[in-house]
Amino acid sequence: MNDFLSDKIRRLEEYLPNTEILPIRLDANESPYQISDALRKDFEDLISPMEFNRYPDPYAADIIGAYAKAYDLPPDHIVCGNGSDELISIICGSFLSKGDAALTLSPDFSMYEFYSGLAEAKPEIYRKPDGITIDFDAVLFEAGRSSAKLIIFSNPCNPTSVICPRDVILDLVRRAADIGALVVVDEAYMDFARSDESVMKTEILDSSPNLIVLRTLSKLGLAGLRLGFAVGNTGLIRAIKKVKSPYNVNLVSQAFGAAALSRFGEFREKAETVKLETARMYAELIPYSGVIGFELPEPDTNFIYMKFPSDEAPLSIWEKLRDRGISVRHFKSQSALRITAGLPEENAAFIREVTEIFADLR
Ligand code: PMP
Repeated sequence: MNDFLSDKIRRLEEYLPNTEILPIRLDANESPYQISDALRKDFEDLISPMEFNRYPDPYAADIIGAYAKAYDLPPDHIVCGNGSDELISIICGSFLSKGDAALTLSPDFSMYEFYSGLAEAKPEIYRKPDGITIDFDAVLFEAGRSSAKLIIFSNPCNPTSVICPRDVILDLVRRAADIGALVVVDEAYMDFARSDESVMKTEILDSSPNLIVLRTLSKLGLAGLRLGFAVGNTGLIRAIKKVKSPYNVNLVSQAFGAAALSRFGEFREKAETVKLETARMYAELIPYSGVIGFELPEPDTNFIYMKFPSDEAPLSIWEKLRDRGISVRHFKSQSALRITAGLPEENAAFIREVTEIFADLR
């Protein structure tokens, strides 16, 4: 035991990302597509004149300007982070004080609880009654009961792939303001949504004093650059800028991100293909959901969620897929699998293999 560790570090449950690389990777919600040759050439041209001896722009003006243009937002409503993970960490670490209640939902992205724990906030968890659907009146009730300072969740949800309508989110944001809670809506997967339910609109942000939206370029095809964005009214964004480390986004990511966003159409096009592929995989799985006995919510983004009554089947399917060179995400505590849409041929291989595995289960 190391005597120099704080209790909060000792208490933390480590997040262990998957490091096993299988031929078909459908486990991390990344884009299966490489960047275009033209963009790769842009990256190459950007590298040689770079001044690596200098710190990067602390305000990340170019990348923020490019993001603002791509999403039709005022640049002063945006702050850039080293992935949205960093922004979650900054928000939890600075908007929460020790002992403040932070309300997360379950199942949802595990890092919310992780970073609120690191901030020594009091974890409050709203458990989705069927593991999939959210009753926002109940969320608000929990927030009020626990005097939550922060409510944070993903929309569309990782891992269930279910989206919540904009009106419902806005109603929550308004009612949360009345009880003094900041609402962070993590829209990491909104670029693949079947219907746009985003609350990342200037007029919404300007009339919502307690709303921060999180976005990322990771899912669109640039996970390696680590570029996330927090978007909100200027007061909230100024507060995040005040507490972030000055040079949090490196030189290369800022320049490459801005260049990529100037070819944003290429990313949008690929996102459309991913959406079609997700819908196709879902359609192929529907006939098995009743026979095998898993729940299969209609996917609202780039992955599919299969929830089983117990963990025996998903564990066995996950192992067998791994043996066949396909990695998907297994959630033991949810008795569930999450499958990210890959390339058309990868998805076809997944469907072929999983249906063979289903045949053995019956
Ligand atoms: N939010 C959600 C809901 C996610 O699933 C992820 C990635 N797993 C992130 C944020 C983090 O994204 P980034 O790569 O921008 O740090």
